[in-house]
Amino acid sequence: MRYAFSAEEELFRHEVREFLADYRDLDAFFLQGLKWEKVKALFRAMGERGWLSLAWPREAGGLGAAASREYLLWDEVASARAARNPLSAGIVARTLVRCGTDAQKERWLPPIRAGEMHFSLGYSEPEAGSDLASLRCRAERRGDVYIVTGQKCWQSYAQDMDYLWLLCRTGTQESRGAGLSLLIVDLHAPGVRVGPLPTLDGDQLNEVHLDSVEVPVDQRVGPEDGAWKIMGEALADERHIQFPPKRVRRDLEEVITWTERAGLASDAMVRGRLAELAVRVFEAEATGLQVLDAMQKGRPAAAEAAANKVIHTLVCQEIARAAMDFGGPEALVEGSRTQLLWRQSLWETIGGGTTEVMRGIVAKQALGLGGRR
Ligand SMILES: Cc1cc2nc3c(=O)[nH]c(=O)nc-3n(C[C@H](O)[C@H](O)[C@H](O)COP(=O)(O)OP(=O)(O)OC[C@H]3O[C@@H](n4cnc5c(N)ncnc54)[C@H](O)[C@@H]3O)c2cc1C
Repeated sequence: MRYAFSAEEELFRHEVREFLADYRDLDAFFLQGLKWEKVKALFRAMGERGWLSLAWPREAGGLGAAASREYLLWDEVASARAARNPLSAGIVARTLVRCGTDAQKERWLPPIRAGEMHFSLGYSEPEAGSDLASLRCRAERRGDVYIVTGQKCWQSYAQDMDYLWLLCRTGTQESRGAGLSLLIVDLHAPGVRVGPLPTLDGDQLNEVHLDSVEVPVDQRVGPEDGAWKIMGEALADERHIQFPPKRVRRDLEEVITWTERAGLASDAMVRGRLAELAVRVFEAEATGLQVLDAMQKGRPAAAEAAANKVIHTLVCQEIARAAMDFGGPEALVEGSRTQLLWRQSLWETIGGGTTEVMRGIVAKQALGLGGRR
């Protein structure tokens, strides 16, 4: 792979950095749930520039930019520790662009593009995470509405979001992935209850209980029982921005700064370990670019994205772990960045698909192991 950004792309990167200078103190890449109002203001400002719909097609109100622009945008946002990319403008909007009705596009895309409307993903359940096709939350059609009953868990940011992007069962339990549909559920509708699930880093995930919730049929996206395929397509569109490599570089920079402050920077063991980690950061950057390269060439990037996720999230853990090995208890002082890096990095290998599941994808799709390709 050969990849270099063009002068025009570098200019765009510069523009993003200048914009982000006003958000220097936001620091909401971690613990976003504690700073949602400020993050929402950032998204609104990005929406005003058209950056939340940067790579949407023009006919959907986007700027029609190349995937590389989006990559640069979210890489810089992650590097500035400002926020994570919103699921609404990515997975939700792209699915609507691809398979929403005209009425749905008119209703949902403008507020998403403006950064005014936000979604949480309602996929996982207590007994269905990696094996999502076994989920049980059920939607029964009655005339113009679906009646939805079930429980979801681990929903990121659901406490602050407007809608739930709900994957639910409309077919039989045995139909697995072929019996699932996507519904847009108002998180403030009668029968919806959102409860916190505290996380190790001090933020929260949520469980969402749905008790006979009425959802208008025109809030089903795509065909009934047809969600599985369209979910995969939207996810594929997002792969280049899901794990921005500059976040990993920033983690390392923060640990280096901490070693300097702690008087450890001249220690040979510390320097050797930091050098090894610097190589791992390059590796994370290279795999991030491999995903982008595959996408720009129009190739499916599932295996590259899975490998990138594994490397990215493991390097984050290695960097955070190094600070503890260097400094012992000093690296764990409450409120310090090094302890936050550690506590936060622990869940990164689970959310968005576990390391084992990602390795399974690489084994099957890239290496041809484990049966049919
Ligand atoms: C921070 C965070 C944010 C999340 N956000 C959301 C969200 O917004 N919306 C949402 O719906 N969900 C969300 N999730 C849930 C997440 O998608 C699931 O936790 C994840 O898919 C794993 O599912 P599980 O927890 O049920 O574990 P399980 O699937 O039960 O896995 C348990 C263990 O078994 C291993 N395992 C399972 N299957 C295989 C296999 N085929 N091969 C090898 N090993 C396997 C796993 O790797 C893991 O170690 C989030 C999770 C986290 C941690």
